[in-house]
Amino acid sequence: MDPVSGWGNSPLHQVDEEVFDLIEREKRRQSHGIELIASENFTSFAVIQALGSPLTNKYSEGMPGNRYYGGNEFIDELENLCRSRALQVFRLDPSSWGVNVQPYSGSPANFAAYTALLNPHDRIMGLDLPSGGHLTHGYYTSGGKKISATSIYFESLPYKVDSATGYIDYDKLEEKALDFRPKLIICGGSAYPRDWDYARFRVIADKCGALLLCDMAHISGLVAAQEAANPFEYCDIVTTTTHKSLRGPRSGMIFYRKGPKPPKKGQPEGAEYDFEEKINFAVFPSLQGGPHNHQIAALAVALKQAMEPGFKAYAKQVKANAVALGSYLVNKGYKLVTGGTENHLVLWDLRPLGLTGNKLEKLCDLCNITVNKNAVFGDSSALAPGGVRIGTPAMTSRGLVEKDFEQIAEFLHQAVSFSLKIQKEHGKLLKDFNKGLADNKDIDDLKTAVEKFAASFDMPGFQMSTMKYKD
Ligand code: PLP
Repeated sequence: MDPVSGWGNSPLHQVDEEVFDLIEREKRRQSHGIELIASENFTSFAVIQALGSPLTNKYSEGMPGNRYYGGNEFIDELENLCRSRALQVFRLDPSSWGVNVQPYSGSPANFAAYTALLNPHDRIMGLDLPSGGHLTHGYYTSGGKKISATSIYFESLPYKVDSATGYIDYDKLEEKALDFRPKLIICGGSAYPRDWDYARFRVIADKCGALLLCDMAHISGLVAAQEAANPFEYCDIVTTTTHKSLRGPRSGMIFYRKGPKPPKKGQPEGAEYDFEEKINFAVFPSLQGGPHNHQIAALAVALKQAMEPGFKAYAKQVKANAVALGSYLVNKGYKLVTGGTENHLVLWDLRPLGLTGNKLEKLCDLCNITVNKNAVFGDSSALAPGGVRIGTPAMTSRGLVEKDFEQIAEFLHQAVSFSLKIQKEHGKLLKDFNKGLADNKDIDDLKTAVEKFAASFDMPGFQMSTMKYKD
């Protein structure tokens, strides 16, 4: 038998019907639903092509020009291209900023940055998870259980949002930071609907002698398009994922300052930043092995696409859509954390309705609307968070504009009404609520309307007309 063709060159649908079928089902789910997870997006066909390329075959441990394996002449070019585009997309001067594009994703990027900058048990401060921060910023429970490796290996003291306004309480952060004296302050979050005051963070970091890291994962597309405040102006290190508002493949990047430090009292003349070597060493060999070259190629493509004029329009639309959706909900009398949004997401506080986020998430799931339950500051139970997080990046990539997001808000309003009705008829306990979800005509009708609405928009990444499951 030919040693290659049967195994090596047959298409997926012939080789593995099960996997092929599941991919086709997922394509139908994506195209026939309303995707509102704030951390998700639909990437482009070009990015998917690069991800599915034979670049996945190559080992290239090390940095371009200095690899542990041979045969990397094109991989080196590719990684350098990706690095220079990453600097370009954020308008960074290569003499004062560098970037590592090898982290496999956002969490490994953050841990590599900490590994580079900190010693075990050094103190860090990030936004608390229930306030909208990310796990990797040092989360441990109110009972003291250390959840994130960041809180296991470092001493973490989170800062929080103001319980009345939902905005970050900068004064309290400063007071805490001056007492705690962290070595690193982290700004950026996963469920914060407002822009960040990086200048204030810088002042606080300088007062307590801390480094300042921004994890701009959620908003990196908005930053690239200059539709959000610029963390590079004030931070020492900036980390990001690349698959959220940036519309790329799943990956991570770490940006670091390099070259001469600005003059400062008490600092020797001619002092230089020393992050580059530390960051590169932390990514490899400390934490990772071979870079995922197919991913780096795909990221290079996404960065090129993010520099096209259409990307600025996309980012503006993401924000306009979040405002349209938020305003519709507020006009219906619902409560949003901070009263609205300045970015790509709204955080919907369901507690005044006597409803929990997991119930609404569950009902929405049955109607092909994907949202995620989210803690709202002051929640008493982590198991039954009081809100849902709703983001606009993914559906904006499908071409939806303000009026479409008003329709989505109307669907969500209906979903809430049905949830409240079920709760009234069946009781508040989840097991009783679940009974009301079965054979429910309201839900079936809403699902039909949602599918029809969603399927009327094109999908980036693949042609809906070629899907196995179209209806
Ligand atoms: N940082 C922030 C702010 C995030 O929101 C996320 C994920 O949502 C991450 C890091 C982690 O990224 P990943 O899931 O790619 O590890």
